[in-house]
Amino acid sequence: MSTIGFIGLGNMGAPMAANLAKSGEHVLGFDVVPASREASARDGVQIVANARATVESADIVVTMLPGGEHVLSVWNDIVPHARQGTLFIDCSTIDVASARKAHTLAAARGIATLDAPVSGGVGGAKAATLTFMVGGSTHAFERGKPVLERMGKRIVHCGEAGNGQVAKICNNMILGASMIAVSEAFVLGEKLGLSHQAMFDVVSASSGQCWSLTSYCPVPGPVPASPANNGYKAGFTAALMLKDLKLANEAAQSVKADTAIGAHAAQIYEQFAQQGHSAADFSAIINLVREHSKPA
Ligand code: NAD
Repeated sequence: MSTIGFIGLGNMGAPMAANLAKSGEHVLGFDVVPASREASARDGVQIVANARATVESADIVVTMLPGGEHVLSVWNDIVPHARQGTLFIDCSTIDVASARKAHTLAAARGIATLDAPVSGGVGGAKAATLTFMVGGSTHAFERGKPVLERMGKRIVHCGEAGNGQVAKICNNMILGASMIAVSEAFVLGEKLGLSHQAMFDVVSASSGQCWSLTSYCPVPGPVPASPANNGYKAGFTAALMLKDLKLANEAAQSVKADTAIGAHAAQIYEQFAQQGHSAADFSAIINLVREHSKPA
């Protein structure tokens, strides 16, 4: 049994920490929100007084926080209190530059690190079926992998520090753009008299096939489990999609990569968020496409 410090017991972190506790690890947890601490205590996590107290006796420390500024601030606070030999794993989705800064600040104190953002959402976190995209040295990866396997089913080493975040934003840039493309196709088909089911039957077996269509279809009917069948209850919120598209844009600008479609997708989600739909599932973007398609 190892001792694992876990900081950030929110929608994702709570079920991840619960799975670690369920698998027999000793989990010391902390979150700034009392209700999150109480919920995790009921899931077998030993709640401690502050973030520092999670690391003092930990073999491994996991953070699952909203953004890069939170990760850097928490790591700045806790890294000096970690024992030599502790491995730090950040599973949040954050900008590549902050992820690399976090690696550097820990490395300066001889602490090994991984950036290990996830895909699979809250459902995957609860079922311990997340995919982890991992950046860091091979040695750190080999150490962290058995712990990540208790929270996920696919653990991919993407290369050096920050590369997990690179893989994550590239994937989600494709996802955001493909959801808009699939939505545009459904709306175009609707206006020209093609049924949703006919569109699905053809495209799901043709070259336009993609995950946004076959697993997460933005219209109700063809894929019964997709959020469209449940009033677009998230799922993966439009706010998180916008966050990831912005991270992709920022990274693209920093290396002068031409990601015109990704940038346009960010603008479309920004408009959707400004209309007050941040909490809806990101596949609800089809409603914005419909609204833009109304006769003038
Ligand atoms: P969340 O807001 O539910 O959880 C974040 C938690 O961090 C909150 O409970 C918050 O109180 C806590 N926190 C913030 N600052 C803190 C601090 N200084 N010390 C201790 N705790 C602090 O967010 P989430 O949905 O769990 O997402 C976490 C990360 O995972 C984000 O980076 C997000 O982009 C990423 N992610 C989320 C999903 C999803 O479907 N929710 C999917 C993939 C990746």
